[in-house]
Amino acid sequence: MRKFLFFALAFFVLTLSFNGVRAENIARGVRVIVIDAGHGGPKFPGAYYRGVYEKDLNLKVALRLGALIEKELPEIKVVYTRKTDKQFSESLTKDLQARADIANRAEGDLFISIHTNAAQSASARGVETLIMGESPLEKNANERALLDNRREELLDMSNEKTAAIVRAYIQNLQFTYGEYSEAMARLVQKHYVRSGRHNRGVKRQPLKVLYATDMPGILTEIGFLSNAEEFAYMTSDKGLDAIARSLFGAVKDYTAFVQGTLLVEEDAVYEQGEEEPAAQPKGGSAVQNTQKEYFAVQLLSSTKRVPLRDAQFKSYRGKVAEYASDGRFKYKYCVGRFASRREAEAELKKAKREFRDAFVVRCSNGRIVR
Ligand SMILES: [Zn+2]
Repeated sequence: MRKFLFFALAFFVLTLSFNGVRAENIARGVRVIVIDAGHGGPKFPGAYYRGVYEKDLNLKVALRLGALIEKELPEIKVVYTRKTDKQFSESLTKDLQARADIANRAEGDLFISIHTNAAQSASARGVETLIMGESPLEKNANERALLDNRREELLDMSNEKTAAIVRAYIQNLQFTYGEYSEAMARLVQKHYVRSGRHNRGVKRQPLKVLYATDMPGILTEIGFLSNAEEFAYMTSDKGLDAIARSLFGAVKDYTAFVQGTLLVEEDAVYEQGEEEPAAQPKGGSAVQNTQKEYFAVQLLSSTKRVPLRDAQFKSYRGKVAEYASDGRFKYKYCVGRFASRREAEAELKKAKREFRDAFVVRCSNGRIVR
């Protein structure tokens, strides 16, 4: 069983690298949003209370949210993992992977998975939003019941090999999608609270479906079927509408948040690195330092300064230049100065082996202008 899961995981990891990770997603703004109605079909109905299946509530909210985006933000393309009551596979792992595949193929900029909670205790209530990560297990009984409810959707962190792969992935994530997923999760909770919901907060869990999607993503739990008050709310038109509106409000804010990052990037100011910043990559026809316009490969951006001698830059020692800006991600680290995008793209291929989120940036007068 463990062995099987490990292979399944290896498959996730491979899928990720073959899909090619696109940090440009973030830089280009929010163009495609993938909405995933959790569960579905006869095999995966999700929670069930008093004649109501979780899968049906998830789908109702997904369709309402999608309709709101299509109507009010027509520049954004909405992609649904499912618009009907269906499952993608008899195996849960494959079913979750199929949803991630749809999102990755659509080159989504944001993934929103919609779920409904249930707990043994009828008093458990409220909304929570999960992002990929790991946090110490909460000890109280309610939380344990919640985990039971979601156990099959989680990666098995008690398996050492699995845990090592997933932790390495999570660490890498902090540099790229992590902050965006967290921002979206917080915005979702903020809008829920505004509509009078009980706030259970943002939580980190090693979720399979988020692990396999190559974009910022969240999984939101819209309330407890097992709580009488929330059951009534979620099965009413008014309640479903309010939930979809909350999620839509978060999407709108998130779009502005990403736009803000874009504006910040345009103000980026070039700072000379402490080591020779413009060493020529082998075989590339790099342009001279005096050139005003050029392309470079951005390896990573960070909220904190990363020393140019840092171990992660090992194979680019002496070639990395730091670009600073006033934004959240104050520090960008780039290599190369290329006359054309094509030449930068050749270097990018190499860079991606170590910096999976690397991408090409356009620079002018020592600033990143994209
Ligand atoms: Zn669920």
